[in-house]
Amino acid sequence: MTISANDYSRLGSTTRAFIERSHGHFIDGQWNAASATLAVIDPASAQPFSAIGAGSEADIDAAVQAAHRAFHHGAGGDLTPLAREALLLRLAGLIERDADLLAELESLDNGMPLDFARINVFGAAGVMRYMAGWPSRICGETPEVKMPFPGSQFFGYTRREPVGVVGAIVPWNVPLMMAVWKLAPALAAGCTLVLKPAEDASLTALALAGLVAEAGIPAGVVNIVTGLGRDAGQALVAHPLVAKISFTGSTATGKQINRLATETLKKVTLELGGKSPTLVFADADLPKAITGAANAIFTNSGQICVAGSRLYVQRKCFEQVAEGVARHADSLRLGAGLDPASQLGPLINARQRELVQGYVDRARASGATLLTRRASPDSEGYFVAPAVLVDVRQSDPLVQEEIFGPVLAVLPFDDQEEAIALANDSRYGLAASLWSESLSRVHQVLPRLKCGKVSVNTAGFPYPALPEGGTRQSGFGRDLGREGLDGYLETKTVLIQAS
Ligand code: NAD
Repeated sequence: MTISANDYSRLGSTTRAFIERSHGHFIDGQWNAASATLAVIDPASAQPFSAIGAGSEADIDAAVQAAHRAFHHGAGGDLTPLAREALLLRLAGLIERDADLLAELESLDNGMPLDFARINVFGAAGVMRYMAGWPSRICGETPEVKMPFPGSQFFGYTRREPVGVVGAIVPWNVPLMMAVWKLAPALAAGCTLVLKPAEDASLTALALAGLVAEAGIPAGVVNIVTGLGRDAGQALVAHPLVAKISFTGSTATGKQINRLATETLKKVTLELGGKSPTLVFADADLPKAITGAANAIFTNSGQICVAGSRLYVQRKCFEQVAEGVARHADSLRLGAGLDPASQLGPLINARQRELVQGYVDRARASGATLLTRRASPDSEGYFVAPAVLVDVRQSDPLVQEEIFGPVLAVLPFDDQEEAIALANDSRYGLAASLWSESLSRVHQVLPRLKCGKVSVNTAGFPYPALPEGGTRQSGFGRDLGREGLDGYLETKTVLIQAS
């Protein structure tokens, strides 16, 4: 099977001009030229098509100083709640206006199908709009204060204040969306921010920087430095003027970041990896469950933190569901992101392709059966055919480790208790999905699943008002919703003696 590369003649003229431009770092409202660059690779062809700056410790320092000035002395700190709402709404409108540019950049950079990229662009604008509703509603509490001093009168209340300069570090899997999940609540709370996008997919963050300026967000409030995790990322985590690190990425990197951030006692939010189970009970609507289980793992080629990568099926319908999901996988069209017929794009890079293929090969060598029929295509691009495997053990790496690719392990269970035990037997605790038409079963199982999110009879779509995040080694803290905003605020207690 061969796959055509992206057809660059399909790109709009704005996108073409954007990728041909040299990109620096967005610091204090200006573009600073990058002193070193990194090639931007098209995952569908393994060919470079643009370049981004390789940010250094000095670039990060300049960005953090700008954010610190904007927070403490500049216009950023003086933005009223209503002004922040207006700016967020303006930015949302600009994202929607530039949806074609942003979707094309995202598809080229990450490899995702253009349709999925467009969904993410409008989703990101939706998160901006949701967070725009918060600034004027941020408030503390006013408890009654009665001290045991005769004749005294006290008044006490709490204020919710922005934490200060935020360092946001995000991954490549849904790059614009991940950036906005940090940027929108940070701005809503009144913080200033330095964003370090992933080196494998930074273009939409750079395009967003242009929109930040166009929206009229004051200089220094949002700063964007591209580059490697071990250079720019680490410098951001170590910087003493950064008050909070909001990180989304792998569990291994999250642990390193947490250790480093402890040295300056920064606040930390960690949205990390997952190995999320899908549970299909025999009393489910099976055709819907089959499509849902397939979408849960194959969307974005499995490169979704909440991907349903372990499928547990009640034994009486095991074959029907496993075969159904495998047929669905075989029907998905692999292709370059810009090809309108593509349903499954390439993986992000060569390392990820080797890693994912390695898991499938090792599982087969130790006895797993591959139900899908397609081999990975012969392509320079980082394509991997979706794989559905049975005859695997719960202790296998295929079932225990995050693969972050289109690979599904399917295992049987006999009863509800066993399903819950298997689902919880993981070091991760990000998400789970549950398929059953029995209301009482749903309510019995749901509270016992150890994870941050449970989807019932649906895939785990994010929604701006609903928090996202994990337990155990999937991290702590939440993005989105009111809790997502809370992570950028701290409480000041005020006590006043009136008499
Ligand atoms: P990664 O951890 O390799 O990189 C993420 C970001 O961290 C990148 O910007 C990278 O440059 C930076 N980084 C790397 N090392 C660093 C260091 N030592 N110090 C500071 N920054 C550093 O993750 P990835 O491969 O880009 O993304 C995939 C991972 O992200 C998966 O594990 C996935 O589950 C996770 N993820 C989680 C969520 C969630 O909400 N829980 C959402 C999306 C992705």
